[in-house]
Amino acid sequence: MLLELRANTNYLDKQLLIERLENMGFRVVESDANILAVIGGVNSLVATELFSELPNVAKVLPLTSNFKLASRQTKPSDTIIKMGEVSIGGDELFIIAGPCSIESREQLEACAKIAKDNGAQALRGGAYKPRSSPYDFQGMGVDGLKLLAEVGAKYGLITVSEVMDGSQIAAAAEYVDILQIGARNMQNYTLLTELGKIKNPILLKRGFAATYHELLMSAEYIMLAGNPNVILCERGIRTIETFTRNTLDLNAIPALQQLTHLPIVADPSHGTGVRSLVLPMARASVAAGAHGILVEMHPDPDKSISDAKQTIDFATFSDLVTQVRRIKSVLI
Ligand code: PEP
Ligand code: MN
Repeated sequence: MLLELRANTNYLDKQLLIERLENMGFRVVESDANILAVIGGVNSLVATELFSELPNVAKVLPLTSNFKLASRQTKPSDTIIKMGEVSIGGDELFIIAGPCSIESREQLEACAKIAKDNGAQALRGGAYKPRSSPYDFQGMGVDGLKLLAEVGAKYGLITVSEVMDGSQIAAAAEYVDILQIGARNMQNYTLLTELGKIKNPILLKRGFAATYHELLMSAEYIMLAGNPNVILCERGIRTIETFTRNTLDLNAIPALQQLTHLPIVADPSHGTGVRSLVLPMARASVAAGAHGILVEMHPDPDKSISDAKQTIDFATFSDLVTQVRRIKSVLI
């Protein structure tokens, strides 16, 4: 249910109304333009008339979406996540770049320097790696997180790294700015609920067989548990095509923007799995309206321990940033 308040409702009256609704067992979210979203609760079958009789309520509107907090119905304006000087979800393109896996200080520093020189805001690197084979490199673990924190601080970059399990959250939340949930864990609801209890923004990647609705319900788990700072990531889905690793679903970008107020970044690295396709699909993602781009790069891409085939070199990254910025500038 959405309650549109009378235009002259003052702060105190609004707080009293929120308290009253909460005492009735509802979760209340203050949204845009004098609108309160009233969600679930023990009395969720309360008749609409009861709401319209509450003080300062001008209009009662249905909240039809299954994902309530993530829905654009609840919050019509775009969510902009502020991290220091950086805004995610507004007009500024948010560029996340770095290796698939953190391998060494030298490798990470080389990436950080190129990221910074080209105006990227965030450095990524996996310390806990979800590998198809248990015999493959599984990541540097906490040592990798510490390295990421050090290098990120040295270059003034926001850091992004994946957690695969609840036991990794505390260390990741301490050393890393944005915690990534990978495609394989998008529907790990206990993990999502745990992430709702921390303050760090969450980069939630779409599962490779997940619908938009399922992605948004996963975002809802994090938000309902108390963390409103969710960044969605389109990273490609499994299709019949075998030339590419995944098919970057460009439809997802404008479609999700209609359904949700949350920021959306595109990952053309996992979305294609093919190095030569990363730059053109980064351009396409920005043209489609993505708020940001996530790419994997490496000082010597063929030597990447993981995801070498989709990892770009520094010269390509530099061209990519120049080109996506040019595209973005004609959209604003
Ligand atoms: C990654 O970002 O390196 C990664 C494993 O991503 P995804 O979960 O999208 O496969
Ligand atoms: Mn990867």
